[in-house]
Amino acid sequence: MTSTTTTETFDSDPARPDSEPAIAGSEVGFATRAIRTGHLRTPESEHAEPIFTTSSFVFSSAAEAAARFAGDVPGNIYSRFTNPTVRAFEERLAALEGGESCVATASGMSAILAVCMGLLKQGDRILSSRSLFGSTTMLFNKYLARFGIETDYVPLSDPDAWEAAVDPRTRLFFCETPSNPLTEMADLSRLAEIAHRHGCLLAVDNCFCTPALQRPLELGADLVVHSATKYLDGQGRCVGGAVVGDRKLVGEEVFGVLRTAGPTMSPFNAWVFLKGLETLELRMLAHSERAAKLAIWLLEQPAVERVYYPGLADHPQHALVGTQQRTGGGIVSFDVRGGKPAAWSLIDATRLISITANLGDVKTTITHPGSTTHGRLKPEERAAAGIGDGLIRVAVGLESVGDIQADLARGLPRS
Ligand SMILES: *Cc1c(COP(=O)(O)O)cnc(C)c1O
Repeated sequence: MTSTTTTETFDSDPARPDSEPAIAGSEVGFATRAIRTGHLRTPESEHAEPIFTTSSFVFSSAAEAAARFAGDVPGNIYSRFTNPTVRAFEERLAALEGGESCVATASGMSAILAVCMGLLKQGDRILSSRSLFGSTTMLFNKYLARFGIETDYVPLSDPDAWEAAVDPRTRLFFCETPSNPLTEMADLSRLAEIAHRHGCLLAVDNCFCTPALQRPLELGADLVVHSATKYLDGQGRCVGGAVVGDRKLVGEEVFGVLRTAGPTMSPFNAWVFLKGLETLELRMLAHSERAAKLAIWLLEQPAVERVYYPGLADHPQHALVGTQQRTGGGIVSFDVRGGKPAAWSLIDATRLISITANLGDVKTTITHPGSTTHGRLKPEERAAAGIGDGLIRVAVGLESVGDIQADLARGLPRS
């Protein structure tokens, strides 16, 4: 992906009710889709998108009720199945990712669970990047394994390792790029090619980049999953998730799990995410600009041993920035000299930055992965994953970058 002004046509999804986008068939740019797609104006002539807080919908007659239940006539029945506000968010995110269908979920984790339940069966295997959001690893290892779906792990940035690890039972490739917290990157086009050659699907957790910076479907991925909790909201208010892909995989299989098992998105949360999408591109570029400035400043600090940021020229997969991924993104990690005591005292010396493991907020956050997000790993597993005792992750917000630097400088070891 090299520009955000590429245009694509997008039209309605006949498999689902209420799916006619407001600008069906138009060829418009990313920013326009982020602002205009998905809202069907009601007879009240509202300008901003309304929130439909209703659990069920009424029918004009018993015959119409029967026809809707039978699927002969499109239309809402119950908000576990479809809801107009949720649908508006789904339409808009699908248009941004360049997918035919989107299904919104109660959280990022329920998006990943719905993909696995909808597309895998007992005996199938997942091939996944080793560096993965902690709860995703737990879901794969503890819960899916119980139902006979096992996972093999490979290094994210080594396509040959993926190729070598494919098993005849492998059905799904799964990765996050860039990784948390070390910002390693996968070559998505290559992974998609390997997956398809072996009859597998590629799912990408696009939480860190969002479609404003990276569109995995355009690179050959089959599915995109999101934790909308992070940058799609952008202001740390709601928990939610989504799956994007084609009509068959997402509009039928994943949607079927959602409407039956029920981890659907609430209309209020959908409305918050819908409005978040309107400023997504601006925010992602601003997060990236501040993160790049912070990364360069950190490189100059004597107490900082190493900086991890895709936008830096010495990043091992730097070549993918500007092609696969538009900018470096908002996450910067660094090793501070002095190990865990130095890292903890740096964190404790901050006054502005929030000490929290969340990310994707306008407020800058700081965390010590070794004792929080990656604290459950054994010391040797942490070392193998490259998570040092002095490692700190900063999710750069939208405050003035000079103030973020000054806040970190307070606790940097001197001499
Ligand atoms: C937060 C996160 C998730 C899980 O999302 P929730 O909304 O918290 O359920 C999944 N993947 C990544 C990369 C995340 O950062």
